[in-house]
Amino acid sequence: MAWDFSTEPEFQKKLDWVEEFCREEIEPLEYVFPYAVRSPDPVVKGYVRGLQQQIKERGLWAIFLDKKLGGPGFGQLKLALLNEVIGRYPSAPAMFGAAAPDTGNMEMLAAYGTEEQKQRWLKPLLNQDIFSAYSMTEPQGGSDPNLFKTHAVRDGDEWVINGEKWFTSAGRVADILFVMCTNGMFVVPRKTPGVEIMPEPRNHNHIIYRDVRVPLDHLLGPEDGAKVLAQRRLGGGRIHHAMRTIAQCKLALDMMCERALSRESHGKVIAEHQMVQEKIADSYAELLQLRLMVLYTAWKIDNTSTQEARTEIAAVKFTMAKALREISFRALHIFGSLGTTDLTPLQAMYAGAPTMGIADGVDEVHKATVARRLLAQYRPQQHPYWPTEYIPAKREAAWKKFEPKFQAQPELRASAEAYKKYFAARRSG
Ligand SMILES: Cc1cc2nc3c(=O)[nH]c(=O)nc-3n(C[C@H](O)[C@H](O)[C@H](O)COP(=O)(O)OP(=O)(O)OC[C@H]3O[C@@H](n4cnc5c(N)ncnc54)[C@H](O)[C@@H]3O)c2cc1C
Repeated sequence: MAWDFSTEPEFQKKLDWVEEFCREEIEPLEYVFPYAVRSPDPVVKGYVRGLQQQIKERGLWAIFLDKKLGGPGFGQLKLALLNEVIGRYPSAPAMFGAAAPDTGNMEMLAAYGTEEQKQRWLKPLLNQDIFSAYSMTEPQGGSDPNLFKTHAVRDGDEWVINGEKWFTSAGRVADILFVMCTNGMFVVPRKTPGVEIMPEPRNHNHIIYRDVRVPLDHLLGPEDGAKVLAQRRLGGGRIHHAMRTIAQCKLALDMMCERALSRESHGKVIAEHQMVQEKIADSYAELLQLRLMVLYTAWKIDNTSTQEARTEIAAVKFTMAKALREISFRALHIFGSLGTTDLTPLQAMYAGAPTMGIADGVDEVHKATVARRLLAQYRPQQHPYWPTEYIPAKREAAWKKFEPKFQAQPELRASAEAYKKYFAARRSG
């Protein structure tokens, strides 16, 4: 029997170690040294490197990368199980060398980079000696890549890039920017003359590329290949976000249940009020649906490819946004006034839910993708008026199919006629 929902004991041991490591080491670090991975303080950096060494020794570094691309090659299903643990702790993905936007950029480099490009950029990114950002969206419209205008023109042994990008996450602090142009994907060191970072927004940067010159070997993948590279990057990224979102939904459910058992109102603990129970039950069901969907999609990617699992990835993308929105809202609500403060993770979780429905493609676009790909598997009905499942037509076809049997066995026809009469009488009366 091939369908199996259990985890190999050996891998479970890894998951248990990760869980304990995150709880005992990473979470406390987060409260004392926020954003420690990016800290310029050599003492903090040294401390982080020490923890990361333990992760590397366990073979858990850069877990998102396939073996042939330089990672441990767990595949997406095991990665999902790991991300379900890591995703509960905001700084854990970076501690494990598996944080966006670097992960997607590394995937592109690993898949499309020349040996020389991998040495120059992939290796230091993998070691977190440098950090990167992804510059795709433009201010005039993000959902439709056909509206993008940023373009590179070849001039001797250089490319000259002109354009404007918007919402390049962590662009301000990146060492290199992956810039999607209409005619290719380019790697641009942030300090290249002509890269202008606007003051707002602070974290997801508006960047002007004005006559930015890079050598020819800064083109990644083929000329005109930007959309293919972007698809590769974003397809993987979306499912990774969903894996971590499971962890956030589980955290909200855990918090909701603990609180429901701890507060009293109108003579009983609130867990005994049916409307609270409904919130818990709905949240559990939605979490379970999301988890099964993500694990199934991960399994499908492992057994086919990201490309073949596009419908599932798109469906997961908008489902995770909805699950996070609904579950975090219910948890926040059950926490009452405390839920509205920033003294628990719930407020930030709920505030972050709309982002999940926008970043990496808005819900509507993913829904349209799912519908389009599904509809491609169907044909219009054959009859001008009646659908295939039109009952009178099906009944007529069934009678025709039975005709040879009726001829061979007249008493079968008599029984059928009696049935017909009986049901016709029931329908009319
Ligand atoms: C937190 C965060 C981080 C991000 N990081 C990056 C990054 O690092 N690099 C990067 O390049 N980009 C990044 N983005 C940008 C993201 O990819 C875009 O926001 C997204 O593609 C949508 O583009 P837009 O914001 O221009 O919205 P628009 O394209 O203007 O869409 C706005 C709304 O219009 C409607 N709409 C649009 N298209 C359709 C359609 N086809 N059918 C029906 N309705 C539609 C939807 O309601 C949609 O929400 C990030 C975004 C967020 C929120």
